[in-house]
Amino acid sequence: MKAAVVTDFTAPLELQERPVPEPAAGQVLVRIEASGLCHTDIHAAHGDWPVKPAPPFIPGHEGVGIVEKVGAGVTSRQVGDRVALPWLGHACGRCDYCVKGWETLCESQQNTGYSIDGGFAELAVADADYVVPVPEGVTPFDAAPLTCAGVTTYKAVKVADVRPTERVAIFGIGGLGHLALQYAQVFGGDVVAVDVEEPKLELARRLGATWTVNARTSDPVEEIAALGGVDVAIVLAVHPKVFEQAFASLRRGGRLVCVGLPPENEGAMEVPIFDTVLKGISVIGSIVGTREDLAEVFRLHAAGRTEVVAEGRKLDDVNAAIDEVLSGATTARIVFEF
Ligand code: NAD
Ligand code: ZN
Ligand code: ZN
Repeated sequence: MKAAVVTDFTAPLELQERPVPEPAAGQVLVRIEASGLCHTDIHAAHGDWPVKPAPPFIPGHEGVGIVEKVGAGVTSRQVGDRVALPWLGHACGRCDYCVKGWETLCESQQNTGYSIDGGFAELAVADADYVVPVPEGVTPFDAAPLTCAGVTTYKAVKVADVRPTERVAIFGIGGLGHLALQYAQVFGGDVVAVDVEEPKLELARRLGATWTVNARTSDPVEEIAALGGVDVAIVLAVHPKVFEQAFASLRRGGRLVCVGLPPENEGAMEVPIFDTVLKGISVIGSIVGTREDLAEVFRLHAAGRTEVVAEGRKLDDVNAAIDEVLSGATTARIVFEF
């Protein structure tokens, strides 16, 4: 099978011919139809974060495809099922986090495309219990970005506790951001979209943002202060400075939701204690979403409540696709089609 492989954090991905993996007990073998390129895959390929994956590995945690074979003891999935292979590739199912509905915090978790091989390949094996069924009415092309960008921002809006008529700033209208702004509206929020690329702001307006701010040509903190501040700010951009701008944009009682993950050597965000206390601000970290969150994301999409904006590419062009995302030139998401 063809796979895009990270062999070294400083080298481009290598297209390799790999043996088809055998599904072990409890696993399924999935023939990938579509696989989204998340900015996390780029951080993984570059070894940007304190906890690093071990090359050689196959990135990709927005893989969607058809179950081709099931391993011993698998009863939850059948050959022919369409499933998604999300970042949460495996959790223990027994710890207090797993049992309380916070499987995304499980300390024994395995992550697709990071600690286990992912969806940048024609076939992938996955834990049968952690793949998520893709319902009728959701195409594999749309399901791919929903599998990380969708579930992550849906969860971020949930943990922000967005309530109707609240103002919500989304910093970064990329793969995650174009979906975040739609979920904020599903929950009744009024959206301020912030980005540095004019086409992304145009997209935000088309998707229903009430205000847009170009952070390259104006100061988002001043622009948002002129609106009276925001109740919620969700940060999806990849620079610590943006987290500080988002914090400074909040009204009293505001919630800052941190989702973007800048490289470890780019510094830290400074949180002013005085303002946090006096204004009653909450600073919240949010990491992907559960299998149930993803099932809800798929149901919302099947019901016509969200639009996925993506461009198709071939896996052969993986390195060019990465350059496109880094340059800010993509419309929203890139999806490799097989
Ligand atoms: P992306 O590259 O598609 O989007 C980033 C967006 O930020 C782009 O539109 C870019 O133009 C914009 N941007 C750049 N500089 C900006 C600035 N100064 N102000 C405002 N916007 C700016 O990336 P993505 O795939 O959406 O991922 C975003 C981040 O989220 C990455 O760090 C990724 O690793 C992280 N992520 C986190 C989780 C999680 O669970 N916490 C899940 C998925 C991705
Ligand atoms: Zn992702
Ligand atoms: Zn657990």
